[in-house]
Amino acid sequence: MQLHDKNFIPYLSEAEILAAVQKVADAVAADYKDETPIFVGVLNGSFMFVADFLKAYQHPCEVSFVKMSSYQGLTSTGIVETLLDISEEVEGKSVIVLEDIIDTGRTLQALIHMFSNIKVKEFKIATLFYKSEIYNGEYAIDYFGMEIPNKFIVGYGLDYNELGRNLRAVYQLNQPHMINLVL
Ligand code: 5GP
Repeated sequence: MQLHDKNFIPYLSEAEILAAVQKVADAVAADYKDETPIFVGVLNGSFMFVADFLKAYQHPCEVSFVKMSSYQGLTSTGIVETLLDISEEVEGKSVIVLEDIIDTGRTLQALIHMFSNIKVKEFKIATLFYKSEIYNGEYAIDYFGMEIPNKFIVGYGLDYNELGRNLRAVYQLNQPHMINLVL
């Protein structure tokens, strides 16, 4: 399936994305292959990354998910809700959060706040896409697959108004106005 919309231009192929996923998995494995970390995917956007990451990470591990929400359409609403509580599951463990994308860092801030109330052994962040130009959080990102410019992207789990998450490739929004997503 492809995105047929003149406002979205092909940005990353499936192969390029999977190479970035492998890069994250290898970097995490170098640090954690002798432990049993728990990977915590941040829903909804990270589901595809988590699946491919786990296929690339063939060492003992556990998996869980939290659900966070901050974007509506193209802009962050600034409201970050936590809709799933996994505190009991992660207590005492090495937690590695798997994010699809880090943008302003607001979601990350909320995650850090959430985990600061739980006694975990270690806390790390791994993101597939990292908009380093606009990230303004204090936390230094531990692992990332790819730095990307400050442009809105769709595909590979990332949506535009809930559409496009199933696309294998990633598309970049060309013009921020006149959005008409046709799949
Ligand atoms: P932050 O809280 O870092 O500003 O944004 C993180 C969340 O916003 C991500 O988990 C993702 O859901 C959404 N987001 C940020 N940038 C993009 C983007 O370029 N495309 C899409 N589809 N979602 C984005």
